[in-house]
Amino acid sequence: MAVDTCQACGGSRLEPFYEVRNIPVHSCLMVDSREAALAFPRGDLELVFCEDCGFVQNRLFDPDKENYSPDYEETQAFSPRFMRFVEEICADQDRKYRLAGKTVLEIGCGKGEFLVRLCELTGCRGIGIDPGVRPERLSSPALERITFIRDFYGPEYAHLSADYVCCRHTLEHIQPVRAFVALVREVIGRREETVVFFELPDMKRVLEELAFWDIYYEHCSYFTAGSLARLFRAAGFEVTHLYRAYDDQYLMLEGRPAAAPTRARLPLEDDLEETRLLVRRFREGIATRLEGLRRDLAAWQRQRRRVAIWGSGSKAVSYLTTLGLGGEIAAVVDINPHKWGKFLAGSGHEIVSPDRLRELRPDVVVIMNPIYTGEIRADLETRGLAPELVPL
Ligand SMILES: [Zn+2]
Repeated sequence: MAVDTCQACGGSRLEPFYEVRNIPVHSCLMVDSREAALAFPRGDLELVFCEDCGFVQNRLFDPDKENYSPDYEETQAFSPRFMRFVEEICADQDRKYRLAGKTVLEIGCGKGEFLVRLCELTGCRGIGIDPGVRPERLSSPALERITFIRDFYGPEYAHLSADYVCCRHTLEHIQPVRAFVALVREVIGRREETVVFFELPDMKRVLEELAFWDIYYEHCSYFTAGSLARLFRAAGFEVTHLYRAYDDQYLMLEGRPAAAPTRARLPLEDDLEETRLLVRRFREGIATRLEGLRRDLAAWQRQRRRVAIWGSGSKAVSYLTTLGLGGEIAAVVDINPHKWGKFLAGSGHEIVSPDRLRELRPDVVVIMNPIYTGEIRADLETRGLAPELVPL
């Protein structure tokens, strides 16, 4: 059932601007065979922009199609660059909020790596909730201070009180975003000292860079700094910090419960007009962008250059299925050993280890996330390979 009101503000002036039909409903679920990967369930995406608050949502998203489970392999913890980022966040949050001895609740803790690292580095206690959590994979002396709950967060967990609530890369998977943030606020109640910390992809960069590979079915909700702050203020929070991180790919919001309504006051909040323009530019430019990439791939094929993709996460699935690619790509590589021998939903490519590139000897490696370019170049060099690197 298509949504016709804004899930962030309730408004009904929704402007459609991007559409992709028949895309895999998951891009991180591990698929065991090529057949299953090709036959993977599909859904439609139509992004709409809310004229009132700037929130962007897939109005055709169907939550019943989602089947999030421990097979979900979203972790980036195998990348040193990513783990350094995690440690920077932990240090920054500890400096601001002195977490030693406090209780941290992480909603949507994924495999639990962030929570474990936060507890190790700061001395806090932790509660992590996620339907995909795999505590058996973790080892740390801090685990004795952490409780994991394998479930979705909801009103039944209202009794879990915490001094600090964090939620990283989860809100973009939630359709009723206003109801969700309101629930977090309600659970905090009058405990005014509680801090909330949210981290999620920044839609401004996606719009600016026409980065369609960052748009996929599981992400039904897309925020810019302004639309995120507007949602938190409307739900009864004071927004204390609003900034970007990880080469501006991610948005970070920190706040506290407010007793009375608050007003926008941070520099990044006033972005509605700018977002409107970016949405228009995206709508006008995306077809040319897709055409250009298809042309590059066709040229490489004519020149018989072997093309590999580095990174097998959601970006790769979106890139391959949006462009309708198959045999043009010789290999999809990932450094996460849990993914090797599995297949990409939609396109059916097998995910292989970087070691396999020794035999494949690619001429071009398309890098799904430019932030890893240095890491990938070094890895290829140790294998005696120097293909052309094309970061997206
Ligand atoms: Zn809205």
